[in-house]
Amino acid sequence: MYIRKLFAQKRCVFSAEFFPPKQVLNWESLQKTLQEVKAVQPDFVSVTCSAGGSGVGGVSTCQVASYLKNQLGIEPLAHLTCIGTDRAGIEANLDELFTAGIRNLMILRGDRNPNVQQFKDFAHASDLAAFVRGYYGSFGLSSACYPEKHPESPTLIEDVSHLKQKQESGATHLVTQMFFDNFHFYRFMNLIRKEGIDLPVSAGIMPIVRKSQIDRTLALSSASVPRDFQALLDRWQDDADGLYKAGIDYAIGQLRDLIEAGADGVHIYAMNNADVVKRLHAGIRDLL
Ligand code: FAD
Repeated sequence: MYIRKLFAQKRCVFSAEFFPPKQVLNWESLQKTLQEVKAVQPDFVSVTCSAGGSGVGGVSTCQVASYLKNQLGIEPLAHLTCIGTDRAGIEANLDELFTAGIRNLMILRGDRNPNVQQFKDFAHASDLAAFVRGYYGSFGLSSACYPEKHPESPTLIEDVSHLKQKQESGATHLVTQMFFDNFHFYRFMNLIRKEGIDLPVSAGIMPIVRKSQIDRTLALSSASVPRDFQALLDRWQDDADGLYKAGIDYAIGQLRDLIEAGADGVHIYAMNNADVVKRLHAGIRDLL
C-alpha cells in the first residue's frame, strides 16, 4: 500500500518512527517492541537510516522495514539518506529494499557528521528523489520538511522554495521535523499551501518523557520551546514518573489540537518506546 493512498482513506493518518538497533544483540528487543506497537494498528511505521548508510555493524533499516512488512503486516516507510553514500551504494540499497517488498521510502540528505565521509553524487534530498523516481518508478516517496525552517536555511521562505523542488522531483508525502508549539505548524501549512505545495503532511510530535531527552534532544533540536512547555520541564525534570506523565499529557494536547484542526496525519517520534505510542494512541483514538 502506498502511504500517499492512506490519506484519501483516513480522517487522520497515525504513524510512528523507530530506529534500528546499533547492536545486533538488541534486535530481539526491538522486535518485541514492534509487536507491542502492532496492537494500536499504526497506518505506517518509519525506520530511520544513519547518515553514514544503513546498518553498518548493526541491524539495517531494510531488515527492520522487512520485519514490519513481512512478519507483522505493518506498512513500513524506510528512510534512505544520500550524504554518506555514492550512486552505486544508493542503487544497491534500492535493489535490496525493492526485493524485500518495501514500496515506501523517506528520501533524505541526512545529517552532516564530521566523522562520516560525505559524497557528492546527490547534494540534496530532491536530487535523490529525482534519481529514485527514474531508477525505480514504483516507490512511493516521502520527504522531510521543517515548520521552523531547516537550520542551514537563512529563511523559512527560502527553505519552502527548496521544499517545492522535492514535490517537483517526485515526493508524494511530507513528514515534519518535531515542534512543540502548534502555531509553527499552522503558519507553515498556510505558507506551503500558498506556494503550491499540496502534498499530504504528517505532523511530527516528539513526546519528552525522560530527562536525557531534555538535555540531548531539546538542546540539539532547533525547535523552539514555548513558555508553558518550558515551565512543565522545569517543574518535572527531577521527577522521572512525573516527567513521563507530563510529557505524555503535553504531547496528547498537541496531537488533539492538530487532529481537530484538520492535520492530514500525525507522526510520533517514538524513540523505540512502545508504551509511549500506546499511551498517545489511547489519548487520541476517539478522534482518529
Ligand atoms: P535537504 O532537502 O537536502 O535540505 C537540506 C538543506 O539544503 C535545507 O536547508 C534546504 O533548504 C537546502 N536545500 C535543499 N535543496 C536545495 C537546493 N537545490 N539548493 C540549495 N539549497 C537546498 N537524518 C538521518 O541521518 N537519518 C534519518 O533517518 C533521518 N530522518 C529524518 C526524518 C524526518 C521526518 C526529518 C524531519 C529529518 C530526518 N533526518 C534524518 C534529518 C535530516 O537528514 C537532516 O535534517 C538533514 O540536515 C537535511 O535533510 P533533508 O532531507 O531535509 O535535506
